[in-house]
Order: sequence, then structure tokens, then C-alpha cells
Amino acid sequence: MEDVFAGEEVAALKAQVLSAKSVVVTSHRSPDGDAIGSSLALKHILSAMGVPCAVVMPDAYAKFLHWMPGHEEVRFHDAEPEAASALVSSAEVLFCLDYNAPSRAGGLMDAVNQACANAKSSVVMIDHHQEPEDFADIMLSDSSTGSTCELIYRLLQAWEMQGALDSDLASCLYCGLITDTGSFRFSSVQPSSHDMASALLATGMNHSRIHSLIYDAYRLEQVQLTAYALSQKLEVFPEHRCAVISLSQDELLHYNAQKGDTEGLVNRALSIEGINFAAFMKEDDGRVKISLRSRGSFSVRDVAAEHFNGGGHHNAAGGACEGESLQSVLDRMVALIPTWSDDLQYDD
Ligand code: 5GP
Ligand code: MN
Repeated sequence: MEDVFAGEEVAALKAQVLSAKSVVVTSHRSPDGDAIGSSLALKHILSAMGVPCAVVMPDAYAKFLHWMPGHEEVRFHDAEPEAASALVSSAEVLFCLDYNAPSRAGGLMDAVNQACANAKSSVVMIDHHQEPEDFADIMLSDSSTGSTCELIYRLLQAWEMQGALDSDLASCLYCGLITDTGSFRFSSVQPSSHDMASALLATGMNHSRIHSLIYDAYRLEQVQLTAYALSQKLEVFPEHRCAVISLSQDELLHYNAQKGDTEGLVNRALSIEGINFAAFMKEDDGRVKISLRSRGSFSVRDVAAEHFNGGGHHNAAGGACEGESLQSVLDRMVALIPTWSDDLQYDD
């Protein structure tokens, strides 16, 4: 594997960052554990270098990620659109973490594009999604890696900043590492993922507490929503090895659903014996948001890109349909399922 962090470019970036007047770190819309973990980890590394930076997200993230060191200082475009856009569009060095195209930055898209067009801004993408758009000045892209946090750890090594690895930095990196690898379950896990976990644990970071904060933080209504979705809204197509869950805005409101409450539902559908493809869709902000998961050779990234305006990874992808009803998206999915059937008949 080519090491994108080995080149001159990454060493030169360190020098550039050290003298930059404004450094801004951004990530994708609906930020997840890897988006926030990698962004706050980079902020931590930069402050150890004496470089202040702003972390700007398109929108809010789930409460179960609020424990992360540095969370209080994160700025949000949906809360303060003008100030957030101005920070991003005028950054001297702009980091784009965990996303492979400006369109993934939601409300920050225009500001990211402005920074890309500005000759005085250096835009640096660090990401692990396939087929990145060629939008940044420096593209540190490696789709063979399971999480952006693993790439930030490689940046830490390339910059010879290992001395900055304390338990706060380790906690941020560990969050992205475990959330994007399904706690070391997915095929994207490499020996280096465990080497990194070992180095993080050696800082004294409380890994067991982090797992609890992320995975044992359900509200009662959230558990009840999960129970409802699995008992009433799960459709299984065993002959096609597929399972689908859908939730309407009314159903989400009934259970007082909060951001992040439905995360993981799609994995419950995929956990059914024999199922190789699972889809979850919900009404969200006037659009239909879709999460797709697969086991083995079937590419949900292709499905997301071809049918649901999305993308992602081979076994974990997503998309969104604007201006289409939940029922229409569900009908389309159910009609497509038999066409995928032949490709889903495998055990592994
Ligand atoms: P999730 O289902 O957890 O929201 O997302 C799974 C994966 O699909 C993530 O890697 C995420 O980056 C990607 N993904 C989710 N939604 C979208 C989308 O609307 N567009 C694209 N291009 N990727 C998405
Ligand atoms: Mn990621």
C-alpha cells in the first residue's frame, strides 16, 4: 500500500501549518464518531504544536459524542451560518476530514468551494472514502483504511508529534477507530489498527468508559423506538437475503427521536442470519435519508450511488432523496431488491 503520509507534501504541510494565521478543521454533514473524533484529535495535535484552530461542523451531532475532549469549542454552521461560513471560506489552511467531496459538507459546501477557489487558502483533504473528488490542494486519501482517525494517527507519526499523544487525544482517536470499524469487526481492520489501539491504551485512556459512553447511552424512548422499528417496521425478504426498515416523521416524533437515535438500526437488520443486505430509511428534514449495509461481496456503495444520490464504502453507504416521499423511496427499494437477488446468494 502506498503511504500517502510518507511524501514531502506532508512534511511541508507541517511547516505551513506552523506559520499559518488561521487554521480551520471541518467534517461532513451529520457528523459521526469518526468525523468528530478525527476533527478534535487534529485540533489537539495542532494545539500541541502551538497552532490554534477552529473546528467547524455543518450541523449538530448526537449527544453520545458530547463527552469528547474539545466538544465545547466546536462551532456549527446551522447555529451560526454566517460566522461559520466566514471562518471556513477565509481559512489560510482548511482541513476537510472524513469526506471526499464538498457536497458532503452540507451547509458548509459553498464555503469549502470558496476556500478551494481562493489562491491564498490551502485546502487539505484527509479521508478514507472511495473515489474522492479532486477538490483539495492536498489530497491525503486512503480508502483501504477503516477510519479517518487512523489517518490522523499516521499524520501524528509523519509529523513526529507522538509526544502529543495523551489520554485526551487518544480518546478522540479511539472514538473514531471503534465507531468506524464496528469495534474492530469490519474487514477494513488491519494489523496497524490494533497497533494504534495499543498505543492509545498505553496513554492510560479509559477504553471501557468510552465504549460505555458510546454504546450504553440509550434513552428509554430510543430503546422503545428500536423495539417498535424491529417489531413493526422491519420487512425481511429471506429469498433475496435482504431486510429493510423504514420510519416516518410521525413515528420518529411519537418516540421523541433525537439526532443519532436511529444510528445502528440498520446493523440490527443486517444481524439477521442469512441477510447480506440491509437498508434503513427515514424522513429527515424534508428528505428521505438512507443507510445501507452489506456483508461480503455485494457493494452498497454502488447501490447508494446508482439509486439514492449517495456513496460511502463497499459495506457501509448512505444517500438521500430530496423531493420524494418515504413510501416512494421504499417502493423503489422493494422493486429493486429482486434485481439484486442473484448477487446476494452467498454465505461467508
Ligand atoms: P451512515 O449509514 O452511517 O449514515 O453512513 C454510512 C457511510 O455512508 C458513511 O461512510 C458515510 O460517509 C456514507 N454516507 C452516508 N450518507 C451519505 C450521503 O448522503 N452521500 C454520500 N456520498 N455518502 C454518504
Ligand atoms: Mn469515517
